[in-house]
Amino acid sequence: MNSFDVIVIGGGPAGCAMAMDLNSRGYDVALCDQARFPRDKVCGEFISPGADPILEKLGVLDSIEALSPKRLKGVAISSYESAELGIDYPVTAGSGLRPTSLSVPRYQLDALFLKRVQSAGVKVFEQHKVIDFIFNEGCVVGVQGWDETKTSFSMNCKLVVDAGGRNSTSLRKFDLKREPKGSSKIAFSAHWQGVRLPEDYCYMHVSRPGYTGISSVGNGRANVVLVVEGSAFSDGKTEKPETFYHRVLMQNRRRSKMLESGERVEPVRSVESLAFAVKPVPCGGLLLVGDATGFIDPFTGEGIYLSLRSSQLAGEVIHAGFKSLNFSRNFLSDYDQRRQQEFGGKFLLSRVLQWLIYNRPFCNRVMKSLSTNRILAETLVGVIGDILPADKVVSMRFLSKLLVGVLTGNAELDLPKVLK
Ligand SMILES: Cc1cc2nc3c(=O)[nH]c(=O)nc-3n(C[C@H](O)[C@H](O)[C@H](O)COP(=O)(O)OP(=O)(O)OC[C@H]3O[C@@H](n4cnc5c(N)ncnc54)[C@H](O)[C@@H]3O)c2cc1C
Repeated sequence: MNSFDVIVIGGGPAGCAMAMDLNSRGYDVALCDQARFPRDKVCGEFISPGADPILEKLGVLDSIEALSPKRLKGVAISSYESAELGIDYPVTAGSGLRPTSLSVPRYQLDALFLKRVQSAGVKVFEQHKVIDFIFNEGCVVGVQGWDETKTSFSMNCKLVVDAGGRNSTSLRKFDLKREPKGSSKIAFSAHWQGVRLPEDYCYMHVSRPGYTGISSVGNGRANVVLVVEGSAFSDGKTEKPETFYHRVLMQNRRRSKMLESGERVEPVRSVESLAFAVKPVPCGGLLLVGDATGFIDPFTGEGIYLSLRSSQLAGEVIHAGFKSLNFSRNFLSDYDQRRQQEFGGKFLLSRVLQWLIYNRPFCNRVMKSLSTNRILAETLVGVIGDILPADKVVSMRFLSKLLVGVLTGNAELDLPKVLK
């Protein structure tokens, strides 16, 4: 039976970053993915500027740039058909420059990443679906599954990192997924050609029954993602997904102006039940990274950054585990704490923004505030883009004012004053 120091399940951004990190630290790493690459994925496809230094450290940034991706200068938001407010990423301390975000098809990005993992020396097993773990004294010490010929395989290791995304083996095996009560969401996406985007922004249009993210992904293509409440889509019973997607896109006048000159050039893909939280892993020998640790909503478009960063944090803890030969649950929980410490504020902000965009008067009011205060607007986009720490905008003062404003219908809510 094959034996490795670490087995990584999943070859998305989290799994690839994890495998490269551990490989560069000198560990013998295997990576299994159930898919054959290139494979596609429903995604907004823009990567927070905060990810650039991580991609550079991993040695993949130059190859990504060679794909001729688009570089976006920020986000343009339209609240319930108001004119789009373009907000640039703020100038970063030190460089004095405004960063930009990469916008590149996942079909290309993930395949490139996996190729780099392989050429770095990681043993990559495509079309290897992990279906269960191997245990020794209650700790995970390997995986088993099926390959593309439906032949079973088993591999041993000292530690497994599950980067299998929203349907990962760990979530199913240990029943770790917690989906929020109430209506879930559904996302649709497809590439278009000939779309008229006035500037290099990611265009977010918020209106009923959800929102869209439209951005150029280079080579004349634009990615058009629609996210709606699950209840808005009849599940294909009365309307096909493609018809629903086009109808809702064109319902918003500002959006339809951008899209009317374009045409969809690939089938519409969809993914359901977007948000979920994850309970702690119940055993040693196993860590989760990327979407397998939970997902809020794609509105702030930071999933790839969080995946890359969570793998960096995991790499530090795993390295310490190898030094002390300790992969117990207790030892590995240091990683959960580090993640919580670093991402807690960001998750809170994402939740606040989620709630805000579905409240029309409030969303309009906040957009008005942002339009009159550039510094404030850029600070918010800087936090969303992972180039400023979340505590720049997440404070008890901010949250309580926000709540009071909504509960009392106080139209005087002055966002500049409540943001630190
Ligand atoms: C509608 C939508 C829009 C989004 N927009 C953005 C955006 O604009 N920017 C952004 O940064 N993020 C965005 N995200 C989030 C982003 O797509 C994810 O956060 C990111 O893909 C997570 O990476 P990952 O490596 O954890 O998982 P994934 O990319 O899902 O990769 C998981 C991999 O694991 C493999 N796998 C799963 N189970 C097994 C198994 N049992 N055995 C073997 N292999 C397995 C899969 O084949 C897959 O290749 C969006 C998400 C959605 C839903």
